[in-house]
Parts: sequence; C-alpha cells; structure tokens
Amino acid sequence: MLAELTEELRSHNATLVAVSKKRSIPEILAFYQQGQRDFGENKVQDLLTRTTQLPDDIRWHLIGHLQSNKVKVIAPFIHLIHSVDSLDLLEEIDKRALANGRIIDCLLQFKIAAEENKYGLEDIRAAEALLNAPAFGQLHHVRICGVMGMATFTDDAPQIRQEFRNLAGIFQDLKTRYFRDKPYFKEISMGMSADYKIALEEGSTMVRIGTYLFEG
Ligand SMILES: *Cc1c(COP(=O)(O)O)cnc(C)c1O
Repeated sequence: MLAELTEELRSHNATLVAVSKKRSIPEILAFYQQGQRDFGENKVQDLLTRTTQLPDDIRWHLIGHLQSNKVKVIAPFIHLIHSVDSLDLLEEIDKRALANGRIIDCLLQFKIAAEENKYGLEDIRAAEALLNAPAFGQLHHVRICGVMGMATFTDDAPQIRQEFRNLAGIFQDLKTRYFRDKPYFKEISMGMSADYKIALEEGSTMVRIGTYLFEG
C-alpha cells in the first residue's frame, strides 16, 4: 500500500504524512523500514511515547489541536505543527523554539468544514489579524510554512472539493500578500484517507493518511 500511495503522490509532488495514531510500534516500523519518514500524531502524549520507541530520524508532525501548556515538551523535536490557530499559541511556540535553539515550522489551520469543528482560524480575516499584529513581527523562531484544513465528513464530493478549493484560495491569497518572497511558504496540508484524491486535484502538497495506509 505504501509503495502505491507514494507513487501516486509523486506525480502531484505531494508529501505523505503517515498518520500513526492508534497503530502499534511494529506496524509503524514496517513502513519505516520501507523508507517512510514522515509520521503524524494528533495527541502530544502519543508523540512523546512514540519518540522514545522509534528511530530518531522520523520527522514527527503534530496534526491535532495543541494546547499552549504542551508546547514545551514537543519543542525539542517536532518537525511540523499543522494546527496553529492563534497568536498566543504561536508566541508560545516561538518562546520554546528559542529555548531549544531551533526554528519550528508551523501551518495555520483553517476551519473549512460546514460542521462545527472546534479548532482552526475562522477565515482569512482571522489570519490577517494574526499576521498584521505587531507581536507577530517579533517572532523569529517560528516559520509559517502554509495552511492546513479538514473537509466536512460527508460523501458529497462536490462539497469536499469546494472546501479544499477554499483552502487553496486562502493559501494563494496569503502567499501573494504576506509570503511572496518566502519560498518556505509552500504547503497546503489537506486530504485524508477518504478524500485525498480530491485534495490532490485541488492542489494539496501534503496528505495526512492513516486508515487507507494501515488497513487498505
Ligand atoms: C486521524 C487524522 C487523519 C487521518 O485520518 P484517516 O481517515 O485515518 O486517513 C488526518 N488528519 C487528522 C487531523 C487526523 O486526526
């Protein structure tokens, strides 16, 4: 399954984040041994447990909600935080990155689904407020590398497509207005097992896939 998926993603130049939540260490190691290095977890505690049990050269992605008081423990090693949705959180990440002598890469998470999801920036105006805030200009140990979103849990493909298209539009808009000269602003993290093909067609650069990979 990994080989087929990797091949499919190659033609879209997209990265696979293998979502390893709820999977056993041997299951994860099997993909590691086939060359997979990007893995994602949605809980901080699970990340911490995994890092002690798995090889050091895994690039760990946090894809779930992050509370400010948990930033400290992942700051030494986290590769990419997909779920930044406030300036307060970003300030905390910056502080902990500095303390670890690192720059931490982050994505801005947006609410693109019709469902009442609890997390994510409401819309592009919320992102503008964050990016225009004087305090944002003071952060030198975080890099905003792009955007992330989750489509509505539905089998209405046109609706999912429209939501992904909205996210890609937000990405383009932010790229033009805030990150034009920042080559690292390049990621659109969208697409899961059920909808990753649509996400790729709409410009995803990073898919987060668990079920299809581990059970497919
Ligand atoms: C669990 C999870 C995924 C992967 O979901 P699958 O349907 O198993 O592919 C992707 N993104 C987030 C944020 C998740 O929590």
